[in-house]
Amino acid sequence: MLEEDMEVAIKVVVVGNGAVGKSSMIQRYCKGIFTKDYKKTIGVDFLERQIQVNDEDVRLMLWDTAGQEEFDAITKAYYRGAQACVLVFSTTDRESFKAIPTWKEKVVTEVGDIPTVLVQNKIDLLDDSCIKKILRIFQRKSKITFELLLYSCEEAEALAKKLKLRFYRASVKEDLNVTEVFKYLADKYLQRLKQQTAEDPELVHTSSNKIGVFNTAGGSHSNQNSSTLNGGDVINLRPNKQRTKKNRSPFSNCSIL
Ligand code: GDP
Ligand code: MG
Repeated sequence: MLEEDMEVAIKVVVVGNGAVGKSSMIQRYCKGIFTKDYKKTIGVDFLERQIQVNDEDVRLMLWDTAGQEEFDAITKAYYRGAQACVLVFSTTDRESFKAIPTWKEKVVTEVGDIPTVLVQNKIDLLDDSCIKKILRIFQRKSKITFELLLYSCEEAEALAKKLKLRFYRASVKEDLNVTEVFKYLADKYLQRLKQQTAEDPELVHTSSNKIGVFNTAGGSHSNQNSSTLNGGDVINLRPNKQRTKKNRSPFSNCSIL
């Protein structure tokens, strides 16, 4: 059991090509809203939401980008200390699906093997696109459209199997499966945390543990227990057991904005 009056904080990165719905997903989960045109608030790096998982208080910090992914320009600071990851692609954008293995590699390179899920977003558009594609196949027997159809229906599951990831079909717009994605990640993270603590009870007390790098340079909330080594590339922070005193404020449930 984790200590009383402490909570676990998890930095979650949400990655994938531009326009797949990453910012929308973060907004939906933390603020309960969906807008067609989400503009990132300058100076805000993440939104947060507090949940309970198996009687444990967990604070999820969902880190957003300001569109740098379109230029392949996500900084190391974005990934640094991430403890869980959502890989997102869109039902209507095949390129975003093809890019998933590369995104996963980037995350693994930066932060190692962390709890990760694969999400196919915008499934509210699936029926429509599937039906249209089937019609087109019958009309033209086009190889390309056939490929697209397969991607919609089967390929994503195959990729998830190959990458050994839990796979969710979601619609941020319809609020379908968004909560489940983050609940799964929090659960998975807690399981690992308990396992690590059982194997090494000292872990939580060790301040020089590199496993638990967390929430560092560049963040609007980057000043907690941080120190910079080697010109900023390696940061020693709190250990993996991210504990903070519970914030009892009524405003603590949601959002940094
Ligand atoms: P990001 O670049 O990955 O952060 O993508 P955004 O969150 O900015 O979303 C890109 C566009 O997709 C916006 O117009 C969103 O309203 C739209 N969008 C996001 N999620 C969904 C969804 O589940 N269904 C539909 N139909 N549109 C979505
Ligand atoms: Mg965005």
